[in-house]
Formats: sequence, C-alpha cells, structure tokens
Amino acid sequence: MSIVVQKYGGSSVATAEHIKVVAERAKKAHEAGLGLVVVVSAMGKTTDRLLALAGEVARDPSPREIDQLLSTGERQSVALLAMALHDRGVPATSLTGPQAGMKITGRYGSGVISEIQPERMRALLDEGQVVIVAGFQGMNALGDVMTLGRGGSDTTAVALAAALHADRCEIYTDVEGVYTADPRIVPGARRIPEVSSAEMAEMAWRGAKVMHPRAVELGALYGVEIHVRSSFKEGPGTIIRKDKDMERLETRETVAGIVHDLDVSRVTLTGIKTGPGTMSRIFAPLAEAGVSVDVIVESAPKEGASDVAFTVSRAEFAEARRIAGEIAASLGGEVEGEEELGKVSVVGTGMLNRPGYAAKMFGSLGQLNVPIRMVSTSEIQVTCVLPADRVEEAVRRLHEDYELEERDV
Ligand code: ASP
Ligand code: MG
Repeated sequence: MSIVVQKYGGSSVATAEHIKVVAERAKKAHEAGLGLVVVVSAMGKTTDRLLALAGEVARDPSPREIDQLLSTGERQSVALLAMALHDRGVPATSLTGPQAGMKITGRYGSGVISEIQPERMRALLDEGQVVIVAGFQGMNALGDVMTLGRGGSDTTAVALAAALHADRCEIYTDVEGVYTADPRIVPGARRIPEVSSAEMAEMAWRGAKVMHPRAVELGALYGVEIHVRSSFKEGPGTIIRKDKDMERLETRETVAGIVHDLDVSRVTLTGIKTGPGTMSRIFAPLAEAGVSVDVIVESAPKEGASDVAFTVSRAEFAEARRIAGEIAASLGGEVEGEEELGKVSVVGTGMLNRPGYAAKMFGSLGQLNVPIRMVSTSEIQVTCVLPADRVEEAVRRLHEDYELEERDV
C-alpha cells in the first residue's frame, strides 16, 4: 500500500466548515486507495489563545503545564476531523501524539523527536482506516505530553512520513505553494513548481513562512518528498525534493527566490579590546541566556580594538543589548543597538561557484540608495541587513533585477 501523509495547518481547520472541506479531501485520497495519515494543527489561533490564557492565570506558568495545555488544541482538531470522516462513511481513528507513538525528549516547549513507534498507526492503516494524528506533540520519558515548539506540526508530518516510508508528505496551507517572493509585496511573484530541499531550507530559515525550516531539514535528511499545496484550491503547488530534476543541470535557474524577514534587530559592541577568546566571551553568555544570534560581523581590529555586531529577533533585542552592554563594559567598549531592521536574502543553489551574485545584489540596493548594515553569504544565499522600512522596495527591486518574473515556469 502506498502511504501518504497530509498535514493541515491551523488556518485550514479554523472552523467546522473548514474541517468539513479537509474531510472531503481526505475522503478522496482514501477512496483513491492510499494509506492515509492526516496530521492537523490546532484550529485557527487556538494555540495563541491558550498561551494568552496561561499568561492570565500566572505570571510565570510552568513549561510542563503549558505543554499540557497547548496539546489540547491539536486534540480537538483530530477528534473533530475523525467525526467529520465518520459522517462521510470513512473509517478513521484519531490519535494524540503519545497514542501515535511519538517519543519526544528535550525541554518542554521545544521538544525533539527521538523515536516513532509506528505499530499502532500501521495496524490501523492495514485495517483500511484513515489515521489522524495530533501535530506538534508526543510523550517524553516520564510519560508526559511534550510539544515540539511553535509551528511543530510540519515537523510531526515529515517525521511520520519518514517513519512510515510514505511516498510523500503533502503540506496543505493557505497559499498555493512556495513563491519567488512574498506575493503580497511582489504582485508578479510566481509559484515555484519545484525546489531543492537545500534551497527550501535556506528560504524557510530566512523568512519564507510557508513551511517550518526544521521540517524541511528533516525531509532532506530522510529523503521525504514534500508537496506544498493550497487547502482551498486544487493545484500542483510546489514540490520539494532532495535533488531538483537533473535534466537542466547548469542551465537551470540560478536564483530560486527572494525572501525577507522583518523581525531583525542589531546589537553592536564598539571599541572593545579584542584578542583570542573575545568572541567566545561575547557569545557564550548570550547562548546561555537562550538568545539566538543570526548574522555576526567583526570589524578588523585597529590598535587592538574592534567592533562586533550581531542580529537577533526583536523579542530578544532588549535582553541581548543588556547582556552585550555588560560584556562591552568589561572589554573597555560600549554598546549600541538598532531595533527596526529587516533582512533580505537571495537564495539559490545555482549561485554556487558563480561569482557576481553578491555584487549584483549590492548594485541593485545601491541604486535604490538603501543602506546595507550587514552582509552574510554562503554558497546558496546572500543576505543583507537593512532598515526595516526599506525592505519591501528592496524585495521588489531584487525580484525584478534577478528576472524572477520573466522566467518560464
Ligand atoms: N498549533 C501549534 C502552533 O500554533 C503547532 C502548529 O500549528 O504547527 O504553533
Ligand atoms: Mg500553526
């Protein structure tokens, strides 16, 4: 039997009407003879609402109890979807993460999947049932429910597809696939029919919202083919697979897309005494405080002093600045910060070993008179940090200059 895992996000199961639409889709796949596993998220904004409630009853709710609470969102969705399928004459069983054999370790609120025991799911599939699994949760060694962190249902779906050796994992969402840029900003943005997992992971980490980057990486690791589609419209969507078709080899598109992220701020330590070990003195305390740092730039030291700048999300800006301030003082320097920044990235495996892609990006931004605050490059992306209010025009211009509108897809 060929197995397919379908995942529906919160917006696809937001209301009873939506759940009925999902049930119709699942019914079709079931009738086509597929072994079907459906992963669902909590309805609409349920997770946000539950988190807000937790904050209303306690100043510092315990992470274990938060997971206990949040896991109920997905439990509602799976039960409702099972009922809607029964109503259509389709045999289906809903399972919580723990019931599905998802074993999780790590911390509450940011668990990682250690193992999947798929026997129960397999037995149900063999009986011809649709198996509906609650996303974003599993059981830890204590037997407690633990979540995978926000957006974790994508990861559940891809992990299940890997464990069940599914033919593919279909991610249903509120957009028609992955686009060459955010279509709300670039009206001429196009759906990308096929993208490599390396490019997709890079795009997801750098701001493309359509899929959780962790799920994309897991898919790459286990060779799971992922299809991103709209849950509202029929269409081919975007296929993410390890190796993009090899037919076009070097003639293929060099740039897959332009992605941006408006949740960026920068902290700079200026005039600090540098020497061996300085970077670790700065970044170890930040890591300990759980601040995740993205782009890092150090200026060439002049007379033993240099500047070190790094970016963090806006939520972590105040904390990062405070910690950096203490470190800067201990190294004879000062701290500065800029909160309202954004990042724009040009992503594509075709850029590998081809000079000129970064230069072209700087040229385009220069013509717009956009100040570039920081730059980071790798084989498959060039990222510039800019003032947040210049990001949209930069994305539009780069989309044009890299000719992403014109390409035949
Ligand atoms: N419901 C969870 C969240 O909102 C998990 C998910 O939707 O993927 O983060
Ligand atoms: Mg969600």
